[in-house]
Amino acid sequence: MVGTMRREGDQVIFRFPYSKAANKELHAASGWRVRWDHERHGFVMPFAALLGAAENVRAMLAAFVIRHELDVDWDCQLALGLEVGVTTPPQREPLAVVIGLGRGWLSAHCSPDEWWGSELRKVVHPKDWVRLQALVLGRAGDCCEVCGRRAGASRLQVHEVWSFQWGNAPRVQRLERVVALCIDCRRTQHVHRARDAGELDLVVHTLTAVNHWSAERAKRDIERAEFECLFRRTTEWDLDLSVLDGLIAIDGYPTLYVPAADRRRLGDTN
Ligand SMILES: [Zn+2]
Repeated sequence: MVGTMRREGDQVIFRFPYSKAANKELHAASGWRVRWDHERHGFVMPFAALLGAAENVRAMLAAFVIRHELDVDWDCQLALGLEVGVTTPPQREPLAVVIGLGRGWLSAHCSPDEWWGSELRKVVHPKDWVRLQALVLGRAGDCCEVCGRRAGASRLQVHEVWSFQWGNAPRVQRLERVVALCIDCRRTQHVHRARDAGELDLVVHTLTAVNHWSAERAKRDIERAEFECLFRRTTEWDLDLSVLDGLIAIDGYPTLYVPAADRRRLGDTN
């Protein structure tokens, strides 16, 4: 079967040649969340529903697209937990798709409280950290890499951005890039902390300002981020920092790929 699974705006569209059996299979795999859309000539479901779907639903949908050899776009691959690279990435900036933020685009993020080794500052040698910081802030040219505001170097913060490879074991938490963010944008990447500090309103404000979203949409995104965080806590992740190969070294560890079992040696996130 030749078909596609694409994200179009806030919807996911499944298109494939008509087959009663396949239609039925897709309905069941999606937990009865898809509906036929005449105008788009495909089955649609909200992208947010896909992100928020239970793991077994995502796994069934992943099995469906693989079984029927659908061409799955980048966003949907990530949402399904397929290994990135199953199909060709789109032309638009891949970074934004992988990590949930890019120039003029921002989605909330939330890390589990104890995520060993995922705060670079505490993992790498202080000299490496200073060099990396200088590199990142220098590249950003004193502007937040998301909202573009000139922030003044003292207010820009270095922030690690991650992707998560679900798929089959090993599951990998991979550092994709280190970016410079203003305080407002960075707050959206630590929803738990913002909630604890009573600053969720500020997160909503930043999400609406950067993305031109309604407050409702921003709140849904925060819910999605917190849900994903809960979900991520249910599994063990290998840590892959190899994007910084040649720039940093981890004291006492030979490579920048740390199996889940060794992560506690690297120190707490907080
Ligand atoms: Zn910003």
